[in-house]
Amino acid sequence: MAHGAHGSVLVVNSGSSSIKYQLVDPVGGGAIASGLVERIGESEGLVKHTYAGNTTTRTDAVPDHGAGLRAVLALFDEVGPDLAEAHVVAVGHRVVQGGSVFGSPVIVDDDVVAQIDALAPLAPLHTPPNLTGIQVARELLPDVPHVVVFDTAFFRTLPEAAATYAIDRAVAKAHDVRRYGFHGTSHQYVSGKVARVLGRKLEDLNQIVLHLGNGASASAVRGGVAVETSMGMTPLEGLVMGTRSGDVDPAVLIHLQRNAGMSVDDIDDLLNRRSGLKGLAGENDFRELHKLVEAGDEDAILALDVYVHRLRKYIGAYHAVLGRVDVIVFTAGVGENDDIVRARALEGLEAMGIAVDLERNAGRKKEPTIISPDWASTLVMVVPTNEELAIARQAVATVEAAGYEGTSDESDPAPAAAGHA
Ligand code: AMP
Repeated sequence: MAHGAHGSVLVVNSGSSSIKYQLVDPVGGGAIASGLVERIGESEGLVKHTYAGNTTTRTDAVPDHGAGLRAVLALFDEVGPDLAEAHVVAVGHRVVQGGSVFGSPVIVDDDVVAQIDALAPLAPLHTPPNLTGIQVARELLPDVPHVVVFDTAFFRTLPEAAATYAIDRAVAKAHDVRRYGFHGTSHQYVSGKVARVLGRKLEDLNQIVLHLGNGASASAVRGGVAVETSMGMTPLEGLVMGTRSGDVDPAVLIHLQRNAGMSVDDIDDLLNRRSGLKGLAGENDFRELHKLVEAGDEDAILALDVYVHRLRKYIGAYHAVLGRVDVIVFTAGVGENDDIVRARALEGLEAMGIAVDLERNAGRKKEPTIISPDWASTLVMVVPTNEELAIARQAVATVEAAGYEGTSDESDPAPAAAGHA
């Protein structure tokens, strides 16, 4: 296969009880193999490995992340592809929080691990499992460079006015309280892809990027540079999400602690796991939510209304931040698949030059697609995100810049046509 000629990248996303991975061809852009390990630490684990259209499943116990990654490497050996033949030039790790320290990907060494570890208080749920994944991967694959790509890095450019919370500066400084932004790899990839698909210079485009997945965030991107985003110090701020509240008055937390007898951990659990669509309607998957709405379920109707209302507020706000908006782009699970959310998010904005053509909008979009009518002054697009490919390409660029042997001909493949429906 072609990937052998120019190398591949193993992309690893390590969570608290799971490891997701993909062996990526950074030139062609495809996934050569992919899989996940789930239920790490439970009595029965789950390992799924997909290669050449076949999925192999194992349910042996996976006591820890080391055992999980060993099981994955064993499956590469057993069912392929052979990692030696795939010529892995780098392992790319997704790390959620890079704080104010990391504005670009870095090659992992012990200092980098220590620096990421020092940022753990800012992302206590994510950073420890991210680091565990890095450590076991370094042990099991010691001969390739490991590169960390940070979810926050694209938002290191946020202007101070956007990044600063209006609280006592000394307190904020002492505890690194500021807005970092997340999903940066996706916002960067998608805004770059928009320019390539349109054949326009990224520098010339003002974009609002709506990454709507189970987690959701919006960003304002001026000429390829992020100037505002909806997630803040943590991925809890901003839009309504699957299980996260997004914006609430901070005094709600004080009230619940003072008057509802809730502990800090209770409130953490409430806002991160029992809120959002799940908290409002008992359902966080839009496919199920729409069924409830159609059946007249009032909680589901309100949940969808709250979700859309919040999204529209952000779109309006980012319009003011940018002044002129050339492209509004939807991405991730909801953004790529849910034509109802897309249509409702931009309904009634014709006076702003924004509209969705219902025929172009209809259905799921697997390719970059323009869904606005021809007369609209702002293009509305759906562009599928691909965080693994973005991480793989950044990993290759990082190891090549550091003088490692990399891929021979890294280039962007020809953009897919903006498929008008
Ligand atoms: P992500 O986090 O990007 O993987 O997005 C996951 C979410 O996308 C799910 O929770 C669903 O709400 C949504 N989703 C996935 N497929 C569809 C679909 N066909 N129609 C509507 N929403 C979908």
